[in-house]
Amino acid sequence: MNNKTISDSIINYLKKRNYQHICLKTVMFDMDGVLFDSMKNHARCWNEAMAHYGLNLPPEEAYMHEGRTATGTINIISLRERGHEATEEEIKEIYAYKGMLFNQCPKAERMPGAYELLLKVKASGVTPMVVTGSGQKSLLERLQTNFPSIFREELMVTAFDVKKGKPDPEPYLMGLKKAGNLHPYQSMVVENAPLGVKAAVASGCFTIAVNTGPLPDSALLEEGADILFPSMQALCDNWQTLFQLLSAPPTPQHL
Ligand code: MG
Repeated sequence: MNNKTISDSIINYLKKRNYQHICLKTVMFDMDGVLFDSMKNHARCWNEAMAHYGLNLPPEEAYMHEGRTATGTINIISLRERGHEATEEEIKEIYAYKGMLFNQCPKAERMPGAYELLLKVKASGVTPMVVTGSGQKSLLERLQTNFPSIFREELMVTAFDVKKGKPDPEPYLMGLKKAGNLHPYQSMVVENAPLGVKAAVASGCFTIAVNTGPLPDSALLEEGADILFPSMQALCDNWQTLFQLLSAPPTPQHL
């Protein structure tokens, strides 16, 4: 990634939003597919759980629904396959079955480059936060085991904190609120899923897409991502440049 690409993405963001500068206090990280290499397992388990109940959700399509609530995903597929939404009972059963399958999967590894990036973010004086649609009970423990001393519980946003979930901006707006009622230009988002990017863009924050899955880059860029990196490692490698360019006020002719 060259400096001009990074610089242009910042200038375009400022122009589009009519902001003068970005004054970074926090970075909000999505969890699955960003911090953990867990999406392969999720996609496979969604496919198997739906099939168990006679519904067809190909694993590749599961990536397009990433970030949506379980109810939302199940109803979209149910409507398409059967012409009506699922009952509350069915939703509970399918989601429980999917959760059971997921718990049998080997624990997902840290995404390569994620921990190193988090350490760099912290060393820059910026607070890393997690904003996830996940509601797994062991989530905090897993984060603390894999990323020791990085995250503070009171700054986390999970499925328990929101009503609507992604693609609604609610989770990221909640993140800004929890961080002390920050403005969108005081934070930014790292996301891997189209619906997550959509939520982040709608929150007004500078949105970094990392394409860690099988979708084409266009699926993330079309939702309005300000910049795209091919991996978390690539974002990690470019952190210093990105942070310097974010911190430096753009020259007047750019605005
Ligand atoms: Mg994700």
